[in-house]
Amino acid sequence: MTASGGTLCLTFDDHYLENWIKAIPLFKKYNAKATFFVCGEVDSKVIASMKTLQDAGHTIGLHGINHAKSVDYVQKNGPVEFMKNEIIPQLEICRKNGIKIRAFAYPNSQRSHETDNELFKEFDFLRTSWAEIRKKDIPVADTNGCFIKKISAKQLFYGFPSSGNFNMEEVKAAMKRAAEENSVLVLYAHNITEEIPPSHHIAVSQLTQLLEYAKTLKLSIKGFNELGTN
Ligand SMILES: [Zn+2]
Repeated sequence: MTASGGTLCLTFDDHYLENWIKAIPLFKKYNAKATFFVCGEVDSKVIASMKTLQDAGHTIGLHGINHAKSVDYVQKNGPVEFMKNEIIPQLEICRKNGIKIRAFAYPNSQRSHETDNELFKEFDFLRTSWAEIRKKDIPVADTNGCFIKKISAKQLFYGFPSSGNFNMEEVKAAMKRAAEENSVLVLYAHNITEEIPPSHHIAVSQLTQLLEYAKTLKLSIKGFNELGTN
């Protein structure tokens, strides 16, 4: 099967390591690689979970130790303290343990050019939410900023929330555009649950629909660590 050239990045935030690991066989069935943005302390148990996901071909990204809103934190404490307290400790322990880190997802999607500049010193890729660029009543498929045709060495992505009772048809239309124009589309959710969830999470049944549709479009489903390589 020839790939379309388009890429879908499925990303998951926070600390749902156990359920993310449970989803490994589902991703494997579709030859899909995801990105898991982990917040919180990185202890030996977390490292072991990260290794399980990484060994299955998935990407680990970071999401801050305390899930701090970066702009608020930097305004209050300055960029040096932000990096020192929120970012570097996670990064160092991951690198020391062989977890390859290239990407960071903004907690609460709060960012500025200043925080981008600071974080790009340590990361290649940053992810925020499309909320920042969305226009009223315009679907994601018509929101140009959500489709990246050429990935820069330092790239910010605007993710679309594929969680809760999201509009499956809207997401499918966006996936179709990515396949047709060979661009990268980023989606985000949090936990992967058995039941259709009310808020920030995605159900296995919803995830399976996305994976099925990506397959029919011949979209590659890649982790952030694989971006920029074909
Ligand atoms: Zn989060």
